[in-house]
Amino acid sequence: MLFSKSFIFTQREDPKVAECKSHKLLLRGGFLFMVSSGIYSYLPLGYRVLNNINNIIRKHMNSKGAQEILMSALQPIEIWQKTGRDKDLAEVMFRFKDRKDRDICLGPTHEEEITEIIRRSVSSYKQLPMILYQIQTKFRDEPRPRFGLMRSCEFIMKDAYSFDKDNQGLDQNYEKMFQAYKDIFSECGLDFIDIEADSGAMGGNLSHEFMVPGDTGEDLLFKCSDCAKYFKNEGQCPDCKKKLEEAKMIEVGHIFKLGTKYSKAQEAFFLNEFGKRIPFIMGCYGIGVSRILSAIAEVNSDEKGLVWPKGVSPFDLSLVVLDDTILPKALELEEALEGEGLSVLIDDRQEAAGVKFNDAYLLGNPYILIMGKKYLKDGTIDLEIRKTRTSKSFKKGDLIKFLKDEYSR
Ligand code: ATP
Ligand code: MG
Repeated sequence: MLFSKSFIFTQREDPKVAECKSHKLLLRGGFLFMVSSGIYSYLPLGYRVLNNINNIIRKHMNSKGAQEILMSALQPIEIWQKTGRDKDLAEVMFRFKDRKDRDICLGPTHEEEITEIIRRSVSSYKQLPMILYQIQTKFRDEPRPRFGLMRSCEFIMKDAYSFDKDNQGLDQNYEKMFQAYKDIFSECGLDFIDIEADSGAMGGNLSHEFMVPGDTGEDLLFKCSDCAKYFKNEGQCPDCKKKLEEAKMIEVGHIFKLGTKYSKAQEAFFLNEFGKRIPFIMGCYGIGVSRILSAIAEVNSDEKGLVWPKGVSPFDLSLVVLDDTILPKALELEEALEGEGLSVLIDDRQEAAGVKFNDAYLLGNPYILIMGKKYLKDGTIDLEIRKTRTSKSFKKGDLIKFLKDEYSR
């Protein structure tokens, strides 16, 4: 893709509205557009990152046999009245009447709706087990939207729901989702921990949270800096007896064993192998997709800008072209790299070299290629690894080989 033709507009100054590092860099780099507090639009760069994260999530969910669906965002309030959660979640629900005077809300979460779907579609144990998931926009009237996508009023969540005939089945599905979550967060390049948590407004009897250490986190854990272990309570490290330090954590995912809370309240029953009508045994599994985007940005940056991990970066490579006459060769290189499955942002703008380098650092693609004087002289292409800021020089063939290798790992 040519920078000169793209909808990528970076800002030289830090935006005044920025509330934290990731918010500042995502706005400055033109990843996001702030519509108003807690409300954002994704511009092409941000949308590319979001889609990369979505695809990682899809890959791991599908590999566990979960099936993707897309539920409605508009929900009749009656389904919420069955569980009483119209009251529990009253403060965060965006609620209104339609022209027929029906009470409607914009879904803040989807346990009630999925339970309705299953209630009407599944009647026998033979149709179980089942895991369904979606990647969808959720709406919550948060009291304190802040830190960009970390806590917004309209955000993207991956929510999955499992249905089983007994608790053993739930245990197995919970374990599968637990593993999928670990794989997802690892592939997103996040340093995360999992910890047993309260079930809160979701209900049920067991839940785990997945957390990423970060200054903008709104959850607090305690850490032993020597043993690198996290604890829920202050106290001292059981191993080395050192005093624990406070650690702010960003909650990126939360999984729950719900049991029969929703199926009982909504009368979602099936016939088991003994011909008995019993409620479905449920689990639910949420990931804050848009929060992950911000969390990755928050923990992967330096003084020059963003440093995206491989696999989620908007492009695999930034290619800085420092002389117009080289552009045809740059396009040939792009074609060869795309043939290897790599995406390239070619900076062909009529700008000073310094401006182009600053933007390449700001946008944070993992590799920066430079075609300039050395290329004109003897075909040498410089490669800078964004994260370590180390450079190597290559001829075209070796460069492609090197990158192919880097991305096959
Ligand atoms: P929190 O305690 O941060 O408000 P929650 O317990 O309300 O989160 P869940 O209902 O379990 O969250 O939602 C699943 C995931 O969605 C969370 O783990 C989090 O990553 C993400 N999430 C929740 N609320 C928001 C929000 N307002 N903006 C962005 N992401 C959110
Ligand atoms: Mg919340």
